[in-house]
Amino acid sequence: MGGLKIDTKARVINKDGDVIKGLYAAGEVAGGIHAGNRLGGNSLADIFTFGKIAANTAFEENN
Ligand SMILES: Cc1cc2nc3c(=O)[nH]c(=O)nc-3n(C[C@H](O)[C@H](O)[C@H](O)COP(=O)(O)OP(=O)(O)OC[C@H]3O[C@@H](n4cnc5c(N)ncnc54)[C@H](O)[C@@H]3O)c2cc1C
Repeated sequence: MGGLKIDTKARVINKDGDVIKGLYAAGEVAGGIHAGNRLGGNSLADIFTFGKIAANTAFEENN
């Protein structure tokens, strides 16, 4: 529970609030709107949604 901070495009944010270029995260490795814990059963919507967003962002920013 908890993990890397990401923005709405699944880009990882550093402790100063800046995007770490080229680093994307989704799923268990990322923190989420539920902070250090989450309601049971809410993981799968999160991982599929942000997994797709992360892939799209990585493609857009690297092509
Ligand atoms: C018993 C159990 C029941 C659950 N029930 C529910 C439920 O009912 N509803 C719900 O929403 N969530 C549920 N969850 C949580 C949900 O399954 C997880 O949050 C989700 O699967 C996490 O997906 P993920 O892709 O982030 O990580 P993972 O599914 O852990 O995928 C990470 C992948 O990365 C691979 N990997 C690791 N290290 C490396 C490496 N160095 N190089 C390459 N690959 C690597 C691993 O092999 C793995 O395949 C449950 C979890 C458990 C354990």
